[in-house]
Amino acid sequence: MPQIYRKTSLDGQHKTHIFYCGDCLDQSWLDKDDDGAPKHFTGRWEEAPLEMCDVCGAVDQESRDEYDNWAEELNQQQWEEDERMREDYIAPDSYLGKTPGTPEWEEASQLRDLMNEQEYK
Ligand SMILES: [Zn+2]
Repeated sequence: MPQIYRKTSLDGQHKTHIFYCGDCLDQSWLDKDDDGAPKHFTGRWEEAPLEMCDVCGAVDQESRDEYDNWAEELNQQQWEEDERMREDYIAPDSYLGKTPGTPEWEEASQLRDLMNEQEYK
């Protein structure tokens, strides 16, 4: 699986839009400019696993898949959290153990109404 790299300035502050895979980087060491300096090696290279090689179009599919899975997992977690919050909303803990018609129940109802009101604001 090819590794993809992004060229940056020497201090890493400035990131370019130049991407090379490991193979093409190796190759570019061999290509010399007229003055004998290797091409493209005036900067630093950092890993950019989600990008595509400018030269041969290689992608690091494994990293991309990993990223997709990770993003999906994150969505799933977020969804489960939302779901939990929603359930808490519909059945607030304050209702637990209270008998309908008692002052405690009334209080819990008011609290729920208040929470609903805030939700729809
Ligand atoms: Zn390449």
